[in-house]
Amino acid sequence: MSARYMQPLRIAVQFCFLGFMLWLGLRFYQFVAHIRSGGSTAFVTRPDGVEGFLPISGLLGTASWLKGGGINGIHPAAVVIFITILAVALLLRRSFCSWICPVATISECAWKSGYRAFRRNLRLPRWLDVALRSLKYLLMAFFIYSIAIAMSLEAMNAFIQSDYHKVADVRMLDFFLHLSPLALGVLLFLLAISIVLRNPFCRYLCPYGGLLGLIALASPLRVTRNSERCVSCGVCSQVCPTYIDVMHKKSVASPECIGCWRCISHCRFNQALSMRAAGRFTIQGAVFAVLLVALFWGGSAIGKWSGHWHTSLSLQEYYRLLGK
Ligand code: SF4
Ligand code: SF4
Repeated sequence: MSARYMQPLRIAVQFCFLGFMLWLGLRFYQFVAHIRSGGSTAFVTRPDGVEGFLPISGLLGTASWLKGGGINGIHPAAVVIFITILAVALLLRRSFCSWICPVATISECAWKSGYRAFRRNLRLPRWLDVALRSLKYLLMAFFIYSIAIAMSLEAMNAFIQSDYHKVADVRMLDFFLHLSPLALGVLLFLLAISIVLRNPFCRYLCPYGGLLGLIALASPLRVTRNSERCVSCGVCSQVCPTYIDVMHKKSVASPECIGCWRCISHCRFNQALSMRAAGRFTIQGAVFAVLLVALFWGGSAIGKWSGHWHTSLSLQEYYRLLGK
């Protein structure tokens, strides 16, 4: 079956998640405003899913859990979402990046608009591209070492229980609400280069993407090319947002593959490309999409069901931490 429907479907899923995350952000803003106003604005329940924006807390909480400290009650959803995203990468490659992550959604809109305007996206020379790509792995190694390896369980627990960490989500909100000129400049610069380059933040700087790419190396799924059906038109290599030369591969094992299905969707010749599990079983696009959404929502459902979702912080504690 043709996979042409996969791009409209993926883009629909991306925008559903983007809308959902904006809604989470708005609800959280209203919750914080209620506390900071001393209760004079309408009360809104704190949306726990907002902890998905705390990947460092997720890494720290997961490391403390693995070291025997249990799942912390301060930001348990951060841990659940972090583990869920790793599980998605293990099963479905870096599809989180191309189907769910709001940063990648905005970045994709930027490079596609650049492509429409200039009829091309720039490509850095290979030596520079490889050097810059290593940055995300260096950042990833730095975070994993300094948080998950170097910190003792006692130090982790002390940080997790600190007032700083308790309101890490509020700090994140304040960061975006009151952007410093420097932060605004950096964001605008990233947005501007995202118009001419494809996904520069994801490709060069995102340590989360680096980690997911390495985990995805163990995934059973790979884009696979049938060389007997392939007519070597090169379209797949051209449309790949991560510049993988799909046309010359038997199967795509690269950690840069974000599972976007663009190569498969654009291949018009005898379905020469397919997503295969263990090199043998063809995975239909719809099955992939349903699995991805089910896994992502299933992770949070398990978190809620097992009592590791809602923060243990009481309203009184929030008033103490944020009240005037
Ligand atoms: S788009 Fe399809 S036919 Fe063209 S090179 Fe890629 S796999 Fe071969
Ligand atoms: S190889 Fe295909 S699925 Fe992987 S990133 Fe490139 S276009 Fe997307």
